[in-house]
Amino acid sequence: MSVLIVGSTALDSIKTPRRANPRLLGGSASHAAVAGSFFAPVKLVGIVGHDFPPRYIRLYQKHKIDLDGLQIVNGKTFHWSGEYEVNMNNRRTIETELGVFETFTPTLPASYQNSAFVLLANIAPSLQAHVLDQMRRPRFVVADTMDLWLNIALPDLLKLLKRVTGFVLNDSEARQLTQRNNLVAAIKKIHQLGPKYVIVKKGEHGSILSSPRGLFNCPAFPLPCVVDPTGAGDSFVGALMGYLSTARGPIDFNLRRAMIYGSAVASFCCEGFGLKSPRAFRGAISINASRNWKK
Ligand code: AMP
Repeated sequence: MSVLIVGSTALDSIKTPRRANPRLLGGSASHAAVAGSFFAPVKLVGIVGHDFPPRYIRLYQKHKIDLDGLQIVNGKTFHWSGEYEVNMNNRRTIETELGVFETFTPTLPASYQNSAFVLLANIAPSLQAHVLDQMRRPRFVVADTMDLWLNIALPDLLKLLKRVTGFVLNDSEARQLTQRNNLVAAIKKIHQLGPKYVIVKKGEHGSILSSPRGLFNCPAFPLPCVVDPTGAGDSFVGALMGYLSTARGPIDFNLRRAMIYGSAVASFCCEGFGLKSPRAFRGAISINASRNWKK
């Protein structure tokens, strides 16, 4: 089974205390799609401008990502720039240039509309809802978000939450959304907003799943050196969805293992800047090795 992924397809300019790298391949959907592609075929929905480097299209193609839903239009690709503090956890957005995103209306090719697994990666909740409107009875829909949408599009996000099976957000967003400091209390409140499954990401401290089977604490893979954590959350949920779409049996039963895979793939993301082929291939090799070990 394939996974449909919609989200941002971006150029990222990233500054860390050690290095600055301009115009890397980024965006929530790009990170999630590459991560998901290690497990399952991925269908990408997004938009880029004519300035989008052809080598980035080739990288998607190397991962056999279906690009029928990627619009390439006149204008500038969404550009995000951010800077990390020395601890590599705190990040500040320097600039967001929407470019072609300003007029983006995601339109699903007919071949996408029957996808059973749908990841609404970080993007405006109204656009996430517009994608859902075009789907025919998906089996498992997960949405991701960011603080920006809690600040400027909360009513849209609350409407969306009633329509998704799973919701993924980070710990500060969970606290902001629910006004609860205690994470377990925050998770309880998020369930009341709609989603059956809630996953709270805690960066280097892993993630928590709350499902009808109870709570599950998933560790982050311990890394001796974090080069650039941009997109780690997207990689986590992309890999999780990729694994789930191919795993046999009930979702409830497979989710915990899916989170472990998500955690492993997210750690590859932190080891280098942007989405680069060599790193991605290294990730694929290791993931395959761990899958063989599982058998
Ligand atoms: P993460 O590190 O998981 O929070 O994801 C970082 C990715 O989110 C970067 O690759 C950015 O291009 C993307 N991003 C940043 N701001 C936005 C936004 N307003 N909408 C959608 N994607 C964004």
